[in-house]
Amino acid sequence: MRTIGYAAYSSEAKMMPYHFERRALRDNDVAIEILYSGVCHSDLHTVNGDWGSQPYPLVPGHEIVGRVIEVGALVKKYKVGDNVAVGCMVDSCQDCDQCHDHEEQFCRHGMTATYGAPDRITDEITQGGYSKHIIVREEFVLNMPVDLDLSKSAPILCAGITTYSPLKHWGVTKGSRVAVIGLGGLGHMGVKLALALGAKVTVISRSDSKKEVVDALGAKGILVSKDSEAMRKATASFDFILDTIPTKHNVDIYTPLLDVNGALVLVGQVGPIDEVNVGTLIMGRRQIAGSLIGGIKETQEVLDFCAKHQIYPECKMIQPSEINEAFAHLAEGDVAYRFVMDMSALDNA
Ligand code: NAP
Ligand code: ZN
Repeated sequence: MRTIGYAAYSSEAKMMPYHFERRALRDNDVAIEILYSGVCHSDLHTVNGDWGSQPYPLVPGHEIVGRVIEVGALVKKYKVGDNVAVGCMVDSCQDCDQCHDHEEQFCRHGMTATYGAPDRITDEITQGGYSKHIIVREEFVLNMPVDLDLSKSAPILCAGITTYSPLKHWGVTKGSRVAVIGLGGLGHMGVKLALALGAKVTVISRSDSKKEVVDALGAKGILVSKDSEAMRKATASFDFILDTIPTKHNVDIYTPLLDVNGALVLVGQVGPIDEVNVGTLIMGRRQIAGSLIGGIKETQEVLDFCAKHQIYPECKMIQPSEINEAFAHLAEGDVAYRFVMDMSALDNA
């Protein structure tokens, strides 16, 4: 299938329109017309080469909402016209303990990422959601609940599941004292989901410039990480801290904020962090851990949870042609929401 997207042609070049072929429909494939595509900071890391060299031209995008336009002969769950979604993975071995346990993101043979990964059958490089169409095997296509507004939901597919999964795994529930570090795409979804789970939520930010957003979200307040007195006063006051900072940083200023048995879970920086004072961990059985997106079953669960509670990411709708400006904002870290591209505009790009 011939389609159009926006691609990175190198780590330095601006994103540009790109015409390319999607694979021919296999028997277990669903062909999707993409309606909305979220812009994750991971897309920027990837095209910048922060996580290693990439197979350019590369079409990023793993927060995908669209409509089924064709199905393979063996597809059972979906039919033409269904509203569907695709997240960060498009395949896995389906046969190891992790896949059987609905944790395909930890597939023993490596999951196939939505973009920049070799297809398991043909080795051709997967291309993501900054495009008009995508073809994905049925098992990795999510059902969009009827109660969810399609135009406001794409970021649930990465920012939503990446924050929901650790909140659930570490048992955040009614009354839990939660802090979210970094109020960007992931952070603001983490706040909304933790609040919906009944937690008391504080945002830890580099300044108080996002205070109005924090108040509007219904969080308890904002703790400015550069305010050492306020940070000292917050010692031992959280059960769970979700750290969404996208760069190498020092977690030693945050770990003392955990109460005994508390956990700080990193989802932002994929790579080294500054040296850690293990003493703070030992003196309170505190943990530092990491978490990667979530499995397909749990991704469906968070979509259904958002539909039930009418939780939506704050989406700032842009045209695909504005992607370079959106990336510039992510690099600055000045967003407290998610950019979402209206892909219906792509024909005219
Ligand atoms: P984002 O929208 O750019 O938000 C990141 C926020 O972190 C910023 O808004 C800012 O918040 C804070 N920040 C930025 N630079 C900082 C710095 N140098 N020091 C301290 N704080 C800083 O990014 P995102 O889309 O939420 O993604 C966040 C990270 O998660 C990225 O690295 C992304 O690759 C990663 N990610 C991981 C997974 C996973 O499965 N683990 C999935 C998706 C994304 P304040 O202004 O409030 O400080
Ligand atoms: Zn993402």
